[in-house]
Amino acid sequence: MTKVIFPGQTIGIIGGGQLGRMMALAAKEAGFKIAVLEPTMDSPCGQVADIRMVASYNDEAALEELAEVSDVITYEFENIDYEGLKRLTQIAYVPQGAELVKITQDRILEKTEIRASGVPIAKFVEAYTFEELEQRIDEVGFPCVVKTARGGYDGKGQQIVQSKEELSNAKSLFEHSACIAEAFVSFTKEISVIVQRNGAGETYCLPIGENIHVNHILHETIVPARIDDSLANKAIEAAQTIANHLNLVGTLAVEMFVLENNEILINELAPRPHNSGHYSIEACNISQFHQHVRAVCGWPLREPKLWTDTVMVNILGQHVIPLTNSISKYPNWSVHLYGKSEAKTNRKMGHVTILSTNIEETLEEIEQSNIWS
Ligand code: AMP
Repeated sequence: MTKVIFPGQTIGIIGGGQLGRMMALAAKEAGFKIAVLEPTMDSPCGQVADIRMVASYNDEAALEELAEVSDVITYEFENIDYEGLKRLTQIAYVPQGAELVKITQDRILEKTEIRASGVPIAKFVEAYTFEELEQRIDEVGFPCVVKTARGGYDGKGQQIVQSKEELSNAKSLFEHSACIAEAFVSFTKEISVIVQRNGAGETYCLPIGENIHVNHILHETIVPARIDDSLANKAIEAAQTIANHLNLVGTLAVEMFVLENNEILINELAPRPHNSGHYSIEACNISQFHQHVRAVCGWPLREPKLWTDTVMVNILGQHVIPLTNSISKYPNWSVHLYGKSEAKTNRKMGHVTILSTNIEETLEEIEQSNIWS
């Protein structure tokens, strides 16, 4: 049953990273209180929360305590403990349920569901052992990408394999989990559609982002994506189809490949606000975080509109000092830093959003700043 949660009540968030922080900041604008469960004390979300529970995501006592103080519970990343979340659904109000987390934690389940929803996806096979992979690989062919079913992110837990002789390079991936092998896609672009839905079934997508990765980590999102209208419609329809198939409540980021022939293939799903949607804080009439809060609190959703073209650029550990030294030069850049103390190489520390009247010029400005070179 869908409940309406009001300002003054408490939203519990499992996970204390930057997505939780931006969710919390959006919720606090409306007067909600925030409780967060996160194993580290000084987490990005913990810094802005009203109540912090410092414990692991599967700590039963902490989950019970979170249930006690929260009027609604959401999560900010998918690698939380599924069994713990499932137990929470019995003692607390968790409108998103636990099943979507189970599905998106495991590429085999995720790809099976995407295929079942009827939207296009690259050919793949699942394998529980390396021997099974050897037996089944001809169903996919070469080149292919072998990925661990669980626990991979930002290109970790993946191996591109060009030929049968190279397949043994993927053997070590099985030390972590079962794997999938999928056909290598020679895409022309990567895009993402963030779809959000409330318990009443109201569904909206944010404007489509075009994602540029560097070393497998998201570097820039350009909005609107530089694709034609027919492709944009296909992408939105695919995201909505998956959201309906999964009975989504909350947020689902759908990452897609664009092919030479103007078709799309779904790459992967994330059941939460997504890095490629951060631009919406400044560039839209509703941010992905505000809409997420509305969805889980049973509020009506707002139809997203883009005020202006925009580029979002990620600040990794190695970019923090160059950015800080350049802030005075760029009054039009909106700087977001997440409050992480250690600026490790490749760690996501923040992002910059630039509202633009000319995407090419903005991309040039980013390049010329030398912060990311
Ligand atoms: P993933 O963790 O599955 O999103 O993969 C990370 C990145 O690796 C993607 O954003 C793509 O740039 C690349 N990639 C993943 N799968 C494929 C594929 N089947 N073919 C080509 N590139 C891929």
